[in-house]
Amino acid sequence: MDLGYELPRWGADGDLGTETIDALARFLRDHGVDIDDDAGMVSEAELALVQRIHAATADAPLGPQLPSGRFHDLRASASQNNVDGRRPWKQITGVTLHQTACIFGERPQRWNTVSAHLGVTRAGQALWMHDFEKVVWHANDFNASTIGIEMEGTYAGVEGDDRTFWRPADEPDRQPQTPTAELVESAKATVRWICREVARHGGRVEKLLAHRQASDQRQSDPGSALWQRVAIPLHAELDLTDGGLTYKVGRGYAIPERWDASRVGVKY
Ligand SMILES: [Zn+2]
Repeated sequence: MDLGYELPRWGADGDLGTETIDALARFLRDHGVDIDDDAGMVSEAELALVQRIHAATADAPLGPQLPSGRFHDLRASASQNNVDGRRPWKQITGVTLHQTACIFGERPQRWNTVSAHLGVTRAGQALWMHDFEKVVWHANDFNASTIGIEMEGTYAGVEGDDRTFWRPADEPDRQPQTPTAELVESAKATVRWICREVARHGGRVEKLLAHRQASDQRQSDPGSALWQRVAIPLHAELDLTDGGLTYKVGRGYAIPERWDASRVGVKY
């Protein structure tokens, strides 16, 4: 099966077993086709439909259209330790932006253990670690409903304000970075691609969020520089929202005025 639907217990053995039928049923449902759940079998018409939909989608290019850098599909090699099951496409309603707060470098394999769906490097490469239907631990209470993107680099919570820069104890000389144009453009292209993919499967991305909004330990995540260069322009371009004034979940922090001038009075 190369439709991207897993056959968890038996694999593609040529037999049209229960799991194969379940996978076909999920495929049809994801493509907006009403099917009879209880039939326990797939009709000729349904099979023909699967083949037609597959033919129409198989040629779609894989990954975002990156202005610079390469796209790497690491899904087969990425660690599954931070995956918490699968979800229906319709449960995906947002994208959460992160900064890695460290430097990984440009070797794609380094990202195999990163707990997020996607990563973008300083040179503008994009890495795809996990299917979007997988629930991955990356953003606390945003995990269940969002896709996570880690943007590489060490960025201050507020650009130019050293007091908002996180420095590990064993690295007192670490300096804040400025996002590269390549990183910014590839991150934007990656969000555009996610929105298209989710829509193609019958869902809709409505929110573009910051990890900060879901955690009391990630105040600077992804930081004002990335928020202003990646998130705010995309909110306008793709009709996305950060949840609105003072929006946060759990013990997170709202988007502050120092990230977004329209959030008058919201403290960092
Ligand atoms: Zn984060």
